[in-house]
Amino acid sequence: MRKFRPRAGFTVLAHKLALDPNATANRHLHSHAGAARAAYNGAVAYITAVWWQRKAEQSYGIPEDQLTEWRSWSLPSLRKAFNADKRTNPRFAGWWEENSKEAYNTGLAGASAAFDNYAKSKSGKRKGRTMGIPRFKSKRKARLTCRFTTGTIRIEPDGHHVTLPRIGTVRLHEDRCDLRALIDAGNMRVLSATARLDRGRWFVSLQVEEKHELVKVARPDAAVGIDLGIKTLAVLADSDGVLGEEPNPRHLDRAQTQLRRAGRAVSRRRGPDRRTGQQASKRWEKANQARNKIHHRVANLREDTLHKMTTRLASEYGTIIVEDLNVAGMGRNRRLSRRVADAAFGEIRRRLTYKTRRHGTRLVVADRWFPSSKTCSRCGVVKAKLPLSMRVFACGNCGLVLDRDANAGHNLAALAARTTGTGVAGDLDPAKAESKPRGADRKTRATRPRRKAQAGRAGGVIPSPRAGKETGDRQQDTGAQLALW
Ligand SMILES: [Zn+2]
Repeated sequence: MRKFRPRAGFTVLAHKLALDPNATANRHLHSHAGAARAAYNGAVAYITAVWWQRKAEQSYGIPEDQLTEWRSWSLPSLRKAFNADKRTNPRFAGWWEENSKEAYNTGLAGASAAFDNYAKSKSGKRKGRTMGIPRFKSKRKARLTCRFTTGTIRIEPDGHHVTLPRIGTVRLHEDRCDLRALIDAGNMRVLSATARLDRGRWFVSLQVEEKHELVKVARPDAAVGIDLGIKTLAVLADSDGVLGEEPNPRHLDRAQTQLRRAGRAVSRRRGPDRRTGQQASKRWEKANQARNKIHHRVANLREDTLHKMTTRLASEYGTIIVEDLNVAGMGRNRRLSRRVADAAFGEIRRRLTYKTRRHGTRLVVADRWFPSSKTCSRCGVVKAKLPLSMRVFACGNCGLVLDRDANAGHNLAALAARTTGTGVAGDLDPAKAESKPRGADRKTRATRPRRKAQAGRAGGVIPSPRAGKETGDRQQDTGAQLALW
């Protein structure tokens, strides 16, 4: 399918609105999400049945050209198969008419994408982790969601209700007259709506085409380097040499006492057991819900902190520099993983990426191997080693003594200045910055330099990129260490 292109001057973005559905709307929402899951599972069964059938036939020695034919998993063919089947298949017969066709389409589209991802991953055309064969979605664990792309989707004139196909009018938790006004003025158009149950509450995400208004940032010429950490969530060093700090609220740590108590209460009740088929008791369900509620609160608090921080940074600075952290790898450290997950480093970067794009400013991502902590921010000498326990950076060359994270922040801020070519921290070339306000003159992100296998090395073992360089201090090279977006 061709990708949707917004009109000139418009961008596509989403507004996520909390819902306060009444009992009827709540039932309809659950029904639609369940229907999407049923359709997904139906499609998985429909496709994989042939795979097992062919395997069995091959084991009987049936020749290749007489095997059962493959079934296509493209969305149109899945939809065709579903429509031919829905009246007779006991999976759907008797109840499929209760939900919008969009519910089934959600499930089928998901299955189509899942099979695509599996096939591409298997043939090496897909980056990232290997994708397994699509499996059935469990009733207990599946995320309840349903996407509407056609039909009546609108925000009601009172700004307090949203109307979805088949589900009808649902009350919004907040007053969104502002969105309604944008629609009335012709500055916004709703493209699709996705309802989903998130942390015990229904949300609707409206994908819209909205008029793009470039809001100028407060200090377009200033750059800020952000050093993320656990002790303080972010140490901010701007190009004027001013240091700032964002404390780590440690929401999960704070909730640990409550969580432990709730967890004890849950474990005293009779829970579900898959081996014996034991059903959970009502008291277990209740205690489990109480525990989940604490987790939901932690997640909400974290989201709030991250939004406030990233919005503030993105609306102030013209350039933001972050490090390309190996967050997944850090999460594997069993002593730090809980705190790494609580700090949500990856989410900070993701939010900064789209928020800087909205403001038309730059987000610079320093290379994963840029020694931001080990470099002296005054004279540029790189230390060979700096263990994580050393919280203060002391330069052996020029005698600089500075907090470890502050030093890293200064290095990142200086890195931004170097990328503009003027060499002076914060002195961005204004003519250049204004000529292409949305960053068309930016370098596209260079892929990380591959560690090439060197000829003559035995066994093709890939050494650490810094192997052999750890022994002495070195002057850093600035050219290849940048990746811009
Ligand atoms: Zn120094």
